[in-house]
Amino acid sequence: MLHNVSKEDEYLFHGKRKRLVEQLKLKGIKSDKVLAAIEKIPRHLFFDASTGRPALLDHAYSDKALPIGAGQTISQPYTVAFQTEQLSIIPGEKVLEIGTGCGYQTAVLLEMGAKVYSIERQRELFDLTKLFLPSIGYRSAKLIYGDGYKGLPQFAPFDKIIVTAAAPYIPNDLLVQLKVGGNIIIPLGEGEVQEMVWLKKSSASTFDRKVLGNFKFVPLLQHKAGK
Ligand code: SAH
Repeated sequence: MLHNVSKEDEYLFHGKRKRLVEQLKLKGIKSDKVLAAIEKIPRHLFFDASTGRPALLDHAYSDKALPIGAGQTISQPYTVAFQTEQLSIIPGEKVLEIGTGCGYQTAVLLEMGAKVYSIERQRELFDLTKLFLPSIGYRSAKLIYGDGYKGLPQFAPFDKIIVTAAAPYIPNDLLVQLKVGGNIIIPLGEGEVQEMVWLKKSSASTFDRKVLGNFKFVPLLQHKAGK
């Protein structure tokens, strides 16, 4: 899928990614497909694109969230891996992502074989990522500038929904747009630390719920989205 990965990338960065994958395994990530995606995707390029500065090697492949401009962050690799694993994506499934950011999570979802729809409310990030993802070979994601709280009724229903910013509550529109049998993973809470909540839609109006530990996200912002 990637077309312009240079030789330099192969030699310098692949080893770093392998080490990152080893760390993620130690932290409990088990899905071979998720680990293979992280081993493959050139995370450093996502910083270069969104900050205009070449990433420091150790930073791009350390298991940390990092700033990407417009006051936003690229999620920690462990968090990306954890949320993706919890979605149990089957190739061909329709997945809605809320909070495209620099598109790293989007790339991971594409590597899972998902049909990805992703919404971002920050215009600068949206414009950047819309150019950047295709430039490294990820062309098939449908990227939309808009408000994640509203989801995408025009493309619903979705098999899976992933929210990559901290929400004060689960937006009802997202629950409506989820298929029966599908699941959503969303960090919930307004404090510095949020609870990762996993819901499965067991019927049109009932949900199974699990809480999967504490994580840190930037907030899912309300009332400021584009049209
Ligand atoms: N998925 C990204 C995470 C980006 S951080 C990654 O792989 O790193 C969360 C993103 O959510 C930010 O880019 C932020 O601008 C966006 N966001 C915040 N509120 C939003 C909203 N209401 N709708 C859509 N996106 C939102």
